[in-house]
Formats: sequence, C-alpha cells, structure tokens
Amino acid sequence: MKDKVDRCDLCGGELEPGQTTLEIWYRGELVVVRDVPADVCRQCGEAYLSAAVSEKLDRFLAQRHRYRPEQFLAVPQYSAVQLETA
Ligand SMILES: [Zn+2]
Repeated sequence: MKDKVDRCDLCGGELEPGQTTLEIWYRGELVVVRDVPADVCRQCGEAYLSAAVSEKLDRFLAQRHRYRPEQFLAVPQYSAVQLETA
C-alpha cells in the first residue's frame, strides 16, 4: 500500500517528507491551505501529495465553511494584456 514517489517527475531530484502550501481554486473560490503534508523535492521544491492526503483535502474543501480561516488574504489580480504595456 505504498504510493510514495521518491524522485521528482520534473527534475529527478530526491523527495523528502515535508509540508507545502496549496493555492486551490475550488468552486469559484481561491482557497489557501498551509501545512499540507507532502513529499517535497529537495531541488525544485515541487510537492507531491499521497492519495490519502488528497482525499482528506477534498473532504476538507467540501466542508471548509465549517472551519474558521486563519486569515483572509487580499490578492492582486492582473491581466496578461498588461504585459503589452510593461
Ligand atoms: Zn524537482
């Protein structure tokens, strides 16, 4: 029952147990979840979630309004059209 990856798909770097922060669009809302357990690439920082953690995360997102957010973030949004004038 081990679904652990030990090499990074992106750069081949070594993975080690750690935590990551996810930014997820869920039903039209941007949700940030900190401290998600993951295998993290030592080289590029890419994070890999186990199937069990992904399932927990899905359940959490579906019920997220039952939990109090740590904080609310104001996020700047831009359009790539603005690249033309930069
Ligand atoms: Zn990597």
